[in-house]
Amino acid sequence: MKPNMKNLVKQAAADLNGARHVVALTGAGISVESGIPPFRGKGGLWEKIDPMEFAHIDAFLQDPAKVWRVLIKEMKDVVDRARPNPAHLGLVRLEELGLLKATITQNVDGLHQMAGSSDVIEFHGNFAWQRCMDCQNRTETRSLDLTRIPPRCRCGGIYRPECIFFGEMIPPQHLSRSQSLAAQCDVMLVVGTSATVEPAAYMPVLSKQTGSKVIEINAAKTPLTDSVSDYLIKGQAGDIIGMIVAEVEKIRSA
Ligand SMILES: [Zn+2]
Repeated sequence: MKPNMKNLVKQAAADLNGARHVVALTGAGISVESGIPPFRGKGGLWEKIDPMEFAHIDAFLQDPAKVWRVLIKEMKDVVDRARPNPAHLGLVRLEELGLLKATITQNVDGLHQMAGSSDVIEFHGNFAWQRCMDCQNRTETRSLDLTRIPPRCRCGGIYRPECIFFGEMIPPQHLSRSQSLAAQCDVMLVVGTSATVEPAAYMPVLSKQTGSKVIEINAAKTPLTDSVSDYLIKGQAGDIIGMIVAEVEKIRSA
């Protein structure tokens, strides 16, 4: 470990240990180690398919079978196989230690819940569940039978994932809850997101404005790094969160 990184990990552990109310904001970067490629950027799904043609609500309503075949089926394959990685588990440990109060995520993979996080606010909904568009019956994506596409509920209605499509609104209650968490916390952990897309982008800014520390854990510098974050710990989320948790536990047991 580089001496600089070691110091930053110690600093983060001390900041977390002294905090009363920690909130995490996570994005695609935290799930990469679980085998889920980010939608945006190099190698992402949006490089292969046009989101406006396959991920817009109008496209889905017009031709659900097409969107199921091209987009949702592929996502299901990836998400079905994914398991929480040390970064998700580290956040659960911070919750067990009484530090982390809630996790706001831009991800739809459900891995925070699978890891055991108890309070997760999902801006974009959750892909792990499907809802019948007619009777609202819910079923787990993992257990859905795809021999017929689009998959249908017993009532004949078509299933759709419980995440939002382009052109759909972020549930207002998720937005307002996130804003109050961002304003309340005294440390915000930003993990695996460059937070360039609203409304996630606003959360660290709001935290900073209300006097909290913003600790960034990302693979590279982001627009937050030199403007909003107190410091960036650069590297893989799983490694870094693991080191921070170990350091917090050391402080606690001393
Ligand atoms: Zn139904």
